[in-house]
Amino acid sequence: MSGKQASPAAKAGDPRTSLLHSLVDQSPALIAIRGNGGDYRYANEAFAKVLGLPAESLLGRHEDDILRDASTPQALRIGGAPGDGVTHAEEEAQVGLRTRRFLTTRFPIRSHNGKVVATGMIATELDAHARTDTPIDPADYAEARHAELLRALEQMERLAYTDRLTGAWNRRHLEDAALLEMSRAERHGHPAALLVLDIDHFKDINDHFGHAVGDYVLVELVRCIRSDIRRADTITRWGGEEFIVLAPDTPLHEAEQLAQKLCARVAATQLSSARQVTISVGVAEYQCGEGFDHWLSRADRAMYRAKSSGRNGVIADPQSAFRADGARAACSPVQLVWRDAYRSGDATVDRQHRQLFDHANRLLQAVMTHAPREQILDALRLLVDDIAAHFADEERLHAEISFPGRHAHAVEHARLLEKAAHLFNRACGDDDLPVAEVFHFLAYEVVAQHLVGADRHYFPYLETPPNDPAH
Ligand code: GH3
Ligand code: MG
Ligand code: MG
Repeated sequence: MSGKQASPAAKAGDPRTSLLHSLVDQSPALIAIRGNGGDYRYANEAFAKVLGLPAESLLGRHEDDILRDASTPQALRIGGAPGDGVTHAEEEAQVGLRTRRFLTTRFPIRSHNGKVVATGMIATELDAHARTDTPIDPADYAEARHAELLRALEQMERLAYTDRLTGAWNRRHLEDAALLEMSRAERHGHPAALLVLDIDHFKDINDHFGHAVGDYVLVELVRCIRSDIRRADTITRWGGEEFIVLAPDTPLHEAEQLAQKLCARVAATQLSSARQVTISVGVAEYQCGEGFDHWLSRADRAMYRAKSSGRNGVIADPQSAFRADGARAACSPVQLVWRDAYRSGDATVDRQHRQLFDHANRLLQAVMTHAPREQILDALRLLVDDIAAHFADEERLHAEISFPGRHAHAVEHARLLEKAAHLFNRACGDDDLPVAEVFHFLAYEVVAQHLVGADRHYFPYLETPPNDPAH
């Protein structure tokens, strides 16, 4: 091809010519010719395939147009004729999702009179033998990388959630897992229990036998507990020699039995040749509306009671929503109780405050009894409207009595209203009612802090003094 003149044998109809065409067309090397104007004059199948286009579609098209698309392998640009010379280069081309290396040769193609009329390029792939001939489907490739990435992420996540010494879960995991159980309990009434396990006199083991033996006991304890809990139960190292078992779908009496079993198992197992190891266990069943810290602190306090009653035993916090036969105990709904001591002396304010208590209780009742969503939202809407109306009335009253703290009080009203509206919008838009937040907001922020707290600051400015709290 690089001869100065066309070979006399290369004539149409000559069988050798057609063989030569087949050689070029079917060559695994990439072969292409670019005219001086930049248009493709010839491209064999291999070249076209790497560009991802049918060979015929390249003819007459300008090289720059084809390579404008960023996804085409730029290294395979033929470019202008390299003068008289022939150039060789090793180039990397991004072909689809893979980087391939080519040895490229570019050379001028001349007419009869020796004038350069085009540039030819032949590129052979290096390391082609290392490549499987089966073309990789980009979708398969992407899927495989994605699966690898997920596995790596999973492993990282697992590590981030695991205690290094014992392989038990760590705090972060427990907090996440507990939140999930709490929302299942809120939504579907599934019970869940926490068991706090603490090794008895663990310090003595360290002191007498060394830290390494202590570590060994911790590892063996986790192994022992794991073999005795259900698959859905998890064991977390909360810190030092304190562990927590989270038992989903487990009401208090069952959790207590589980704790007794674990306690007895540990006492009966030779965890180390050093000495007998025992644990004290505290148990608490989740109560709707309480936060994780509160739940955990009930279990923790129970564990300390087990310590002070002699160790190697179980104490359960008595609160449970379930009877021993598994039936849900009669729900004792959380109630905000109105007390006379809350009276301001102003009839309107008192009436409104009382009504707010009633409407808040209606909402709490609806949430606690898993009333239909619409009913809960209605109760929440009513309460939010009530709060807004009451705040407006109260601000008018503050102006009348020239209450000096009225500006700060109004700012607080605005904050509470905004929060109420935010909660309401979330409750409307979300499948998960933000139950714990609704409780906290109503019981703590609106009632305890504001109605019973902040409001007391203006009571002395009212004409009729508020009732004596001792009344
Ligand atoms: P009690 O029955 O009241 O629980 O007594 P205790 O000795 O188990 O409790 P204390 O809190 O006095 O001591 C806990 C000990 O646990 C002290 C600490 O050195 C040890 N400890 C905490 N983390 C590790 C650990 O990772 N490895 C080892 N070997 N010991 C640990
Ligand atoms: Mg201990
Ligand atoms: Mg107020």
